[in-house]
Amino acid sequence: MPVIGVVKETLPGETRVALIPQSVGQLVRDKHSVVVQKGAGASASFSDDQYEAAGATIVPDAASVFGRADLLVKVHPPSPHEVTSLRSGSIYLGFLSPAAHPAIVRSLAQQSVTAFAMEYVPRVSRAQSMDALSSMATVAGYRSVLIAAQATGKMFPLLMTAAGTVPPATVLVLGAGVAGLQAIATAKRLGARVEAFDPRPAVAEQIRSLGATFVDMELPKEDVEAAGGYAKELSAEFLKKEQDAIASRLPKVHIVITTAQVFGQRAPILITSDMVPLIPRGGVIVDLASESGGNCELTETGKTIDRHGITIIGAVNVPATVPIDASQLYSRNIYNLLKHMYPTVDTPTQPDEEILKAACLTRNGMIVNEAVRALVEQGR
Ligand code: NAD
Repeated sequence: MPVIGVVKETLPGETRVALIPQSVGQLVRDKHSVVVQKGAGASASFSDDQYEAAGATIVPDAASVFGRADLLVKVHPPSPHEVTSLRSGSIYLGFLSPAAHPAIVRSLAQQSVTAFAMEYVPRVSRAQSMDALSSMATVAGYRSVLIAAQATGKMFPLLMTAAGTVPPATVLVLGAGVAGLQAIATAKRLGARVEAFDPRPAVAEQIRSLGATFVDMELPKEDVEAAGGYAKELSAEFLKKEQDAIASRLPKVHIVITTAQVFGQRAPILITSDMVPLIPRGGVIVDLASESGGNCELTETGKTIDRHGITIIGAVNVPATVPIDASQLYSRNIYNLLKHMYPTVDTPTQPDEEILKAACLTRNGMIVNEAVRALVEQGR
């Protein structure tokens, strides 16, 4: 019966926690033992008392969790120190971002840790409740609009006042996957006029159903949708046409939220440096793809900069700015995956089962995912 360990996240600025007390209670009712580092949930407003009441054992520091846990749950990929603290033969469950952290994946294999990456949970219907990428994208999409609303000098809704009419802000959302659709819905709720674009053919209808305008352009001739609903990398020829269509809209918009991603690749450039001054002064770009290189050529990851009177926000780790709900959603994803791994505490699911096989990056001292192995070897 594995002991599940929860540590306080160590990445600066990270406020989330991998399991909240409610999920700990469910695990304890399922007959698991859970050890939680003192203060692990504090920055997400979950107290040690709540964990204890849910049935967890509180231990004073991370070392005590590593000493006892057979299965460690985390939000962020482990630090080099955390990897070496993991016991050989133990299990890791959390995000791993192998492209950004190839050395960590290699060390996990060398340490004989069986590591499951949340971003590799396959996008099949029966794994939807474990899909942490979607949960975190939902939070980021919502928050991106509030970040823009704080940064702009304009109000979002149409206001008719005794001093005259204030026209609504116009928000352009580029990329309308999980984050983009949530950004559209949030901007609409705030009263903005919203336009959006995504090259996947099914998305135009989803954009319109949220009350936004689909920026009409000729869709790519090639097949744009990969397995799991992700977009494929598009041709340079299409991207140029897309940039031209976006450029024609920019003089009319106040806020641009960019969310376009291609799984495992650099994010496509949708707004070149030359296009930025087309936005009226006072405009705001929130680049949610900033951690994958950014959709705006001028974006500086993790920084807010001013270019040509436009504020460009290279947003990073946005879900950490909504720690209570982001932790709650992530914790439910982790619990559902644990429940899938251990339908009952003594009968683990076989490792060759579809969801577990897809999410597993290291096992028996080896990197078992071919694409990740190639990526790690490239980085040698
Ligand atoms: P993502 O974060 O990888 O990408 C965000 C969006 O960027 C996508 O909608 C993509 O089409 C778009 N994009 C890529 N290139 C672009 C470009 N040049 N211009 C504009 N937009 C561009 O994707 P995501 O939001 O995590 O998921 C995408 C889709 O996957 C969802 O909308 C959904 O349909 C599907 N999905 C399926 C499941 C499932 O369980 N089957 C689960 C989650 C998501």
